[in-house]
Amino acid sequence: LSRHARKRQAESEANFRLVVESSPYGIVLIDHAGRIGYMNPAMTRLLGYEREDAPDVETFWQRVCPDPDYRKWVLGTWNRSMNDSREGEIDNQPIEYQITSRVGAVRTMLIDSVAMGSNVLTTFFDITRQKEADHELRQAKEAAEAATRVKSDFLATMSHEIRTPMNVVIGMGDVLLESGINEEQMGYVRKLQRAGDNLLDLINQILDLSKIEAGRLRIEDEPVNVRAIMREVTGLLGMMVENKGLELECIVEEAVPEWVMSDRLRLHQVLLNLLSNAIKFTEQGRITLREKLEDPGQLHILVEDTGIGIAKEQLENIFDFFVQSDSGITRRYGGTGLGLAISRRLIDLMGGRIWGESQPGKGSTFHVVLPLRPVAPPVGKVTPEEKSDDSGLDGQAMRVLLVEDSVDNQLLIRTFLKNTPHRLAVAVDGREAVRMVQEATFDVVFMDVQMPVMDGYTATRRIRQWEQETGRPALPVVALTAHALNGEEERSREAGCDLYLNKPIKKQRLLEVIGQMGRRCVRFS
Ligand code: ADP
Repeated sequence: LSRHARKRQAESEANFRLVVESSPYGIVLIDHAGRIGYMNPAMTRLLGYEREDAPDVETFWQRVCPDPDYRKWVLGTWNRSMNDSREGEIDNQPIEYQITSRVGAVRTMLIDSVAMGSNVLTTFFDITRQKEADHELRQAKEAAEAATRVKSDFLATMSHEIRTPMNVVIGMGDVLLESGINEEQMGYVRKLQRAGDNLLDLINQILDLSKIEAGRLRIEDEPVNVRAIMREVTGLLGMMVENKGLELECIVEEAVPEWVMSDRLRLHQVLLNLLSNAIKFTEQGRITLREKLEDPGQLHILVEDTGIGIAKEQLENIFDFFVQSDSGITRRYGGTGLGLAISRRLIDLMGGRIWGESQPGKGSTFHVVLPLRPVAPPVGKVTPEEKSDDSGLDGQAMRVLLVEDSVDNQLLIRTFLKNTPHRLAVAVDGREAVRMVQEATFDVVFMDVQMPVMDGYTATRRIRQWEQETGRPALPVVALTAHALNGEEERSREAGCDLYLNKPIKKQRLLEVIGQMGRRCVRFS
């Protein structure tokens, strides 16, 4: 070699050495006999060992993995990755190891090996700090989730506490309306009730939201008759449409199957929200509810209106919490700005999509696309709507047992039933209810869940047990609860209740249920 070439080689080697020696990664060179030929300063810094302290692989692992069981695992995986590593190729999947330094500090390392002729070059990358950060992040996330759960429980309890007196406030309004007050006073009471209804809506929405946020909302997977839901929803809002002089049209494509797998309650909730928005924000023209099939295997529901429309830049925001497209509108139309936010989260949970399109001044269209899973009509299942179609044993007197400890609620139900043919008996706790059921004949029981002495579920279980022992037909039991929590419905079913109603109960609903349950009872006896 010329002097010049030698000089260049020496320079290049010096550069190379500089790179390896100043590398922040630990670098170790191992020969075919397992001897450690080189260990860079970063490695010594990480572990506190010099090459002399660990002249071969075996001693090295003994020092950095003092626990024999863990060392066995380490050597196994390490040897395998050495055998797998091909000439000049960096092992694609570095393995994570826990390594103990000379002073006993445990560090997490990513170790990577590459074969170079008869040597193996192993690099050590210290990820202890990232790991700690990950761990802290995870802990912070768990703490935040726990806090959300606490918040959700708090909201659930609060809503329970608010609903119970609200039940009485709204119900007493009904009592007042029937007490022969004058027109002006009736106007005041109706205003009071409207405000009460709005407040209850708000509470329910906040409760829904907190359940979704806490990951506690379970989506049901059950056969659902989508046409029936459309009829229910339009039926509920029919009055509103008529009062505003709007037209309402339902168009269902022939090909849409009658029954699909979905969540009845939640689908109902979303459609009700979209349709009531459409009515709320439309002064003239028509609302169209459309249902069609979309490829591949999707159900597409559209709610179209000819209302005030929504500005383009607002179309996405309105799906956020508490967003209304402008505050002037809020004052004019009311509402909370929660409906669409909840709808989007529900549809997300159901595996679908929801979005809006609009031409300001001309109208809006809201789209819901859901995965379509048709099913055969469930045998013997009637939708609530079909049930209420001819729930009309209204004229027939039913013997109703109300099990309720609150005197206010007793008075409420008594007033609801005042001008009906039904007869009411009252038990103040579960134990009294069981005794009364055994001594007298009833057609339906309304059972409050939370009561002193004996709660409603225990009482229902006792009644079912007694019926079995004595071979009597099952008496319809309707659970009444102010808990809008998940699982309450299952709990009531497990206890043997036939139906589950959330308080407050409206007069209309009470009479409907008495009619339905009474009819069942007639069939049983
Ligand atoms: P809320 O109706 O209770 O205010 P939503 O979340 O359902 O809450 O709706 C949020 C906002 O989106 C509404 O306040 C309104 O500004 C706008 N919006 C929703 N639907 C329509 C519609 N069909 N036409 C015009 N604006 C609408």
